[in-house]
Amino acid sequence: MLKSNTILVVDDVPVNIQLLVTYLSAEGYNVVSAKDGHDAMKAVKEHQPDLVLLDVMMPKMNGFEVCEAIKSDDATKFIPVILVTALNEPEDKVKGMEAGADDFLTKPFNKLELLVRVRSLLRIKHLHDELQEKVIELLRTKEELRHLSITDGLTGLYNYRHFKEHLLQELNRAQRHKLNISVVMIDIDHFKQYNDKNGHPAGDLVLKEIAYLLKANIRNIDLAARYGGEEFSLILIETDKSPAGIVAEKIRKLVEGHGFACESAQLDSKLTISTGVATFPEDGEDFDTLVSQADQRLYRAKEAGRNLIFVDS
Ligand code: GH3
Ligand code: MG
Ligand code: MG
Repeated sequence: MLKSNTILVVDDVPVNIQLLVTYLSAEGYNVVSAKDGHDAMKAVKEHQPDLVLLDVMMPKMNGFEVCEAIKSDDATKFIPVILVTALNEPEDKVKGMEAGADDFLTKPFNKLELLVRVRSLLRIKHLHDELQEKVIELLRTKEELRHLSITDGLTGLYNYRHFKEHLLQELNRAQRHKLNISVVMIDIDHFKQYNDKNGHPAGDLVLKEIAYLLKANIRNIDLAARYGGEEFSLILIETDKSPAGIVAEKIRKLVEGHGFACESAQLDSKLTISTGVATFPEDGEDFDTLVSQADQRLYRAKEAGRNLIFVDS
């Protein structure tokens, strides 16, 4: 990234501004100026300078106040400020430091000293900017990694890890607030046969389409996950057994009636799913019991002929 070197010069005396502008422009810096404190605050917002050279003695809003305002705003607090004081009074320096100034320059200033201080603070500012960019990049990478670690690559649904984490969390909440949660376990019927006849890539498309149907038919607060292989699971928040059964039945019908992209003419029957539902707290109060209860019902649905949902024992 090209480093900008914009310096804001603030002084109520035009000739002082002129002098600083001449010195700094000659060094190749981009110089903007402001004639009082209010003007300075506007210029800081507008130009986002890399450095502010700030006169202390100004009418209305003095340099200390401007400095304090710059340093107390998260958007501008990392802009270095050099206070330009007329007197070399120690109290002024103390006040300036309290206001958050980064350096001081005493009038009448020496040109070389001015340029050395400017250069050094600009270097620090640019290091800070680079660091901030790296931090933002790092946070973005962290977010991407977190997303990858909880997402199933094929379907884009949450994976088992997140399903478990989320259900444990929701069970905690349900216990505290005496709420219901339903878990729906879904398994594709005779999917091995489908793969054998149509090939694995066609099977993958089916998994994607079912994932889409699941996501499209639950509320935002619910969660759909790929439990593993050709098994899916839903977490239905604040949902009792009977409405959970309605959701499961709706999805069963949708899958049964869905025209899958690769459905083969050789397939003797339509693609269907079997489903088991278990509800907290009546079917189980912890993760393992609840999931295993839903699993057992799913197994019974398979035994009873498939393309069925089981919600009770
Ligand atoms: P059932 O009705 O009893 O569930 O029969 P099934 O054939 O579906 O069950 P089984 O457990 O015997 O086989 C599961 C099949 O799911 C076998 C496997 O190839 C397929 N499968 C699992 N994961 C994937 C995947 O990521 N992609 C594809 N295409 N197939 C998968
Ligand atoms: Mg299975
Ligand atoms: Mg299956």
